[in-house]
Amino acid sequence: MVDAHRTFVIVGGGLAGSKAAEALRAEGFTGRVILIGDERDHPYERPPLSKGYLAGSDERESVFVHEPAWYAGADIELHLGQTVVRLDRPAKRLELGDGTRLNYDKLLLATGAEPRRLDIPGTSLASVHHLRRIAHADRLRGRLTALGQENGHLVIAGAGWIGLEVAAAAREYGAEVTVVEPEPTPLHSVLGPEMGTLFADLHQEHGVRFHFGARLAKITGADGMVQSVRTDDGDEHPAHDVLAAIGAAPRTSLAEAAGLELAPGPSGGVAVDSALRTSDPDVYAAGDVASLRETPWGGPLRVEHWANALNSGPAAARSMLGRDVVYDRVPYFFSDQYDVGMEFSGYAPPGTYDQVVCRGDVAKREFIAFWLRDDRVLAGLNVNVWDVTAAVQDLIRSGTPVDPQTLADPDVPLPDLGPAPDKG
Ligand SMILES: Cc1cc2nc3c(=O)[nH]c(=O)nc-3n(C[C@H](O)[C@H](O)[C@H](O)COP(=O)(O)OP(=O)(O)OC[C@H]3O[C@@H](n4cnc5c(N)ncnc54)[C@H](O)[C@@H]3O)c2cc1C
Repeated sequence: MVDAHRTFVIVGGGLAGSKAAEALRAEGFTGRVILIGDERDHPYERPPLSKGYLAGSDERESVFVHEPAWYAGADIELHLGQTVVRLDRPAKRLELGDGTRLNYDKLLLATGAEPRRLDIPGTSLASVHHLRRIAHADRLRGRLTALGQENGHLVIAGAGWIGLEVAAAAREYGAEVTVVEPEPTPLHSVLGPEMGTLFADLHQEHGVRFHFGARLAKITGADGMVQSVRTDDGDEHPAHDVLAAIGAAPRTSLAEAAGLELAPGPSGGVAVDSALRTSDPDVYAAGDVASLRETPWGGPLRVEHWANALNSGPAAARSMLGRDVVYDRVPYFFSDQYDVGMEFSGYAPPGTYDQVVCRGDVAKREFIAFWLRDDRVLAGLNVNVWDVTAAVQDLIRSGTPVDPQTLADPDVPLPDLGPAPDKG
């Protein structure tokens, strides 16, 4: 039975928003819970959109966070296909695109992120794609099927996680794939060159072509369809479809217009403390849009990963209920490409680590890579090695110095790793 005296509103019907709604009920909140999302689909998970769903192996029903009937059963008032266009903080009121006004006692912003757009000629052609929503995946899937049948070419701008996963799916359809990337290796800004090279090799073995050190400069086409692309170093590549996979930008416009503090720096996001509170004590943020001011790994830190949406939504819900919350989880990401599955924990972009140490068989792609600074583990990537994430994250969290040689020895269980020998 819902008591109407307290109303908690969640803006954003993605994973963070829907998991926050679930957590409010699980924690015993009996007030109104209103979840507003601008997509028409019920909240769903996005990782399959570049993996099983795109490849055609995952059914549509499998991507949804809850069955549609779950929301009514949990007394969640779900507004789908509705955009929140204004946040009036002094009045504690929201305005929807259709003019509806809603008052809140506590508000959670879980507005996620949106794909960055290419700012070059030709991006309005119909066969230029982005990948964030189910509808994007449906369209891309149709095109990959056609490309596979016609030996057509897909050009992907960006060798990040999504670009690489789509490259793998496209090769499985039989499409020709060229990936254009300004850095010298894939995933360079996340993993650095050492592991980036491994991903380049993996994809090249599967027939993907890379053009490193260049950006797309122009897309040429006719009748809405792409015919070729030109890179800024003057090369031309055949193309029938182009995917812009150049990252995502947090959806902060609502927060910004309402005068909430935003995070400094290029990553942006709505600034939150470790309890996921924004600069307004009645407004919280979680998921891709939230940027933690400080974390044990430095800050500001905005994490655009599934596990962060899964965990920070419920953490924000508990915080809205007045519970003590310190959200300091180790960043975690997973990916599947061809027959290679991997999990990455931690944070170690180039410039933050001084060596990469591997244990296991790198050539067979069954290993764990560790990024170290001063013998302390900053991050770990397990590739086709499973059930080690907790141990890897313990090493990261503990900050204990480890001996790199012992770390590389697969016969020493990770939990037994001792401190590095004294070098003095
Ligand atoms: C193709 C793809 C593959 C991915 N694969 C992986 C992976 O393998 N591993 C991994 O860890 N992560 C992966 N991710 C990232 C992961 O999916 C995101 O981190 C996660 O979806 C973030 O959830 P969220 O709820 O914060 O935001 P979102 O999922 O973006 O949800 C936010 C929702 O809010 C809506 N919204 C925004 N503004 C408003 C408004 N004003 N009014 C109403 N509604 C609004 C948006 O339309 C959206 O529906 C992938 C992402 C994509 C796109």
